[in-house]
Amino acid sequence: MAFFKKFLQEFKEFALRGNVMDLAIGVIIGAAFQAIINSLVNDVLSPLIGLVAQTDLSYLVLTLNGVDIKYGAFLTAVINFIIMVFVIFLLVKGMNALGSLGKKKEEPVAPTTKKCIYCFSEIDINATRCPHCTSEFILEESMEVDQNEEL
Ligand SMILES: [Zn+2]
Repeated sequence: MAFFKKFLQEFKEFALRGNVMDLAIGVIIGAAFQAIINSLVNDVLSPLIGLVAQTDLSYLVLTLNGVDIKYGAFLTAVINFIIMVFVIFLLVKGMNALGSLGKKKEEPVAPTTKKCIYCFSEIDINATRCPHCTSEFILEESMEVDQNEEL
């Protein structure tokens, strides 16, 4: 009985793991999404394209020694595949555009830290003394100014 209880506990942990649930939701949404794409391609786009171009080539059959080679049906499947991939490409592009609509463009933030020239620690940009190695910067900066004035 103890073994069975442990087995059940392990099964529960496996079934309720986050990634299993995510996967299940993904599969369900994927199936629903596929139905929408199929309908869009078969019920809307294929007839529309059929108005201007012949996409159903399944009448093309080559008969060799009494065996039907239905290469027309194969070509139709290839054409439908290309249409579907194109539709998915447009959908993904549209969703990406929608997703970035509300977002503000991130502006580059002015640096608030600098690196200590002695110990290379990240320190406040206005610091005149490094909190890590206690080196002073103000002296060195004024020396640079003095040198510039001499030139
Ligand atoms: Zn330092």
